[in-house]
Amino acid sequence: MRERALPLRPSQYDLTSRCNLRCEGCLYFSGNDYLGHVDADEGGGVERFFAAEAARGVRYGYFSGAEPSLVQHKLVIAARHLPYGVVFTNGIQRISAEVPYRIHVSVWGGAATDKALRGADVQQKQVRNYRGDPRAVFVMTLNARNIDEIGEVAAMCADNDLALTFNHYSPTARYSRFIQGEGPGDRYHAISSAADNLVLQPVHLARAHDAIARLMDDATCKVVYSHEYNALIHDPAGLYPELLPGSDVAADCAVRLTNALRHYNTDFSASSEKCCTPNVDCRSCRLYAQSYATVLARATRSLRRPQELARAIRMWRVWCALFLNDDGLAAVASAP
Ligand code: SF4
Ligand code: SF4
Repeated sequence: MRERALPLRPSQYDLTSRCNLRCEGCLYFSGNDYLGHVDADEGGGVERFFAAEAARGVRYGYFSGAEPSLVQHKLVIAARHLPYGVVFTNGIQRISAEVPYRIHVSVWGGAATDKALRGADVQQKQVRNYRGDPRAVFVMTLNARNIDEIGEVAAMCADNDLALTFNHYSPTARYSRFIQGEGPGDRYHAISSAADNLVLQPVHLARAHDAIARLMDDATCKVVYSHEYNALIHDPAGLYPELLPGSDVAADCAVRLTNALRHYNTDFSASSEKCCTPNVDCRSCRLYAQSYATVLARATRSLRRPQELARAIRMWRVWCALFLNDDGLAAVASAP
């Protein structure tokens, strides 16, 4: 890793405020931070922006949107400057082979639940677009309604030569108010209620843990996950029991924004929020990219302790498999 890829020096880029779905409880459209930014679209400006990012040392991009496949010319430009990255997409439009990054395709459950929660039937398109594509990892966002559908999603991935991993629905402040009847609905807050919503309770976490553990032991599906992460992420206490004094912000989260780790809005202004998902409640945050970064940072911090080195290496291997589209590096990372 040191020879081939490090330092990664990541930053995060929202590429557009447009999306072609309306997912219930969408993190992006849950707050006001996305408002007031006009998408930067002019080719020369995008090129200069990513050239400047590379010049300040960034080598890894987290690309999201709303929906980045709608502006994929920006991904092609970014790839000329940042060697590594991951694109978070809903998979409806295929991202061109010119984009060399990992591509994470979000899935919200089995076909019927996915359609009910996202407002459209998209799984056939996702599979058609990414079947057998080595860049793609399908990411099932677990929520209170879909734990029993893990097997269905795993079968879909296995049938189509697709890798699978898991995210956890993490409620925003607005979603929590909405389900309590304290806030107005809109197209992203429409079908949930106090009695029937997406929030993972301890009972869901326990069932998810057990279902994923069984799946990892079943060789029919390519599951990119680890037993250690499975235990950590499903701990009902969460990853962030401690908050910064006098705030609601997690004390030990590896993706809080700094001068180096920046999050850019769609007009390429730098965000001044706590992180890239500022509407999420830190106490119940289990978002996978963020959680992997935190778990990895903690493991790396302790790797000089005797038993911890092997654990840190195992964590890095999973991270590489999930977030790097680099066959040579994957071979290094998976070497015994
Ligand atoms: S979750 Fe993603 S795909 Fe769904 S509405 Fe939000 S931005 Fe669009
Ligand atoms: S990534 Fe999650 S835990 Fe970290 S600051 Fe953002 S909401 Fe809080």
